[in-house]
Amino acid sequence: MAASAELFQHAQKVIPGGVNSPVRAFGSVGGTPRFVAQAKGSRMWDSDNHEYIDYIGSWGPMVLGHAHPEVIKAVQEAAELGLSFGAPTSLETTMAELICNAVPSIEKVRMVSSGTEATMSAIRLARGFTGRDNIVKFEGCYHGHSDALLVKAGSGALTLGVPSSPGVPAAFTQHTLTLPFNDADALAELFKETGDSLACVIIEPIAGNMNFVEPAEGYLQTLRELCTEHGTVLIFDEVMTGFRVALGGVQELYSVTPDITTLGKVIGGGMPVGAFGGRTDIMDHIAPKGPVYQAGTLSGNPIAMTAGIKTLQLLNAPGFHEELGKKSQALLEGLKSAADKNGIPLACAHAGGMFGFFFTDAAKVSTLDQVMACNTTQFNAFFHAMLDAGIYLAPSSFEAGFISIAHSDDDIAKTISAADKAFASIGG
Ligand SMILES: *Cc1c(COP(=O)(O)O)cnc(C)c1O
Repeated sequence: MAASAELFQHAQKVIPGGVNSPVRAFGSVGGTPRFVAQAKGSRMWDSDNHEYIDYIGSWGPMVLGHAHPEVIKAVQEAAELGLSFGAPTSLETTMAELICNAVPSIEKVRMVSSGTEATMSAIRLARGFTGRDNIVKFEGCYHGHSDALLVKAGSGALTLGVPSSPGVPAAFTQHTLTLPFNDADALAELFKETGDSLACVIIEPIAGNMNFVEPAEGYLQTLRELCTEHGTVLIFDEVMTGFRVALGGVQELYSVTPDITTLGKVIGGGMPVGAFGGRTDIMDHIAPKGPVYQAGTLSGNPIAMTAGIKTLQLLNAPGFHEELGKKSQALLEGLKSAADKNGIPLACAHAGGMFGFFFTDAAKVSTLDQVMACNTTQFNAFFHAMLDAGIYLAPSSFEAGFISIAHSDDDIAKTISAADKAFASIGG
């Protein structure tokens, strides 16, 4: 801890809060964030050389495990050829084809450098395409930090208790309508009132920024039908879930087809990458083919494309996501029985390589209100007990967990045994 504490102190002198993204600062759980020196497979080492089994995976991207040798080798070879050209490369077409093949609703795709850019651009496109201004988002869903989407957002915005942010003029969010997640009646009512004014609805089809909340039965289908009926563009924000819950994302799992999908995280394999894609008739509104402007100096960067391409190729292996899902299931079943044994009420859920657990009496958590009602005191104590035992979980009860294909049965067994002790220590 000594080295991390010192590095954190030093960082705070020159970086606001000592971090470049808020949740990393451990604000909601307290204590000192671990400064990471290195990671390999399922493991990560901090600057004090403590070893952790990592369940954050850089917040999703590291689905193959850290520093996969084939990805590292490909990136090293690409770097020799030059870091950026500002001109098209065949790598970008290869990446686009990998995405279009895995996610059939995506007929054409534009690469950007972050998930924030992807959602921001998708919304501009939906507005340009429909000629409408209003957009709908859901409470507790996070779509990056652009102004119009920073309303009742999840992730760090929930952790900090700041439902929206200073610095966002009210005028910039007046066209952002918010609805509770998983409330089909509220959805139907809004569409009845004002459906024909809605450019788009953007949703995390499995919400991963208020812990891990799955859509209620039929909810996404209802949303799809209402959008179709009113000429509203349906955007699935699969920045987190894309290539992680299944090869084709949540839309594959639930058989619902959005008009536009946003991607990020996994598709960059650890490099800064985002993408938005969908129906050709919509995507062709983007410049230079169409009038909706969108651009990026480093978009489609050759090193980032190389890391992403190699990652996507490797997770196209037959049975990849089934195996990932089995690992999540083994982990969550283990956590649940350890909690039961120690008299701690816990609700668990998972899909592919993504999971959530809630300190609650509820059998299943499906609304933001339920998430907010969970026992954060227990979570924080559990988090620190696990961290001390070398298990690195997200430092907030509003974040999802991530497992990689590199997590072994032994890693999972160690985690469950640590959880058993941690549950015992926090008391029933
Ligand atoms: C992480 C995330 C974003 C933002 O992506 P960045 O790369 O952090 O800008 C957007 N939407 C969802 C669902 C995310 O999980």
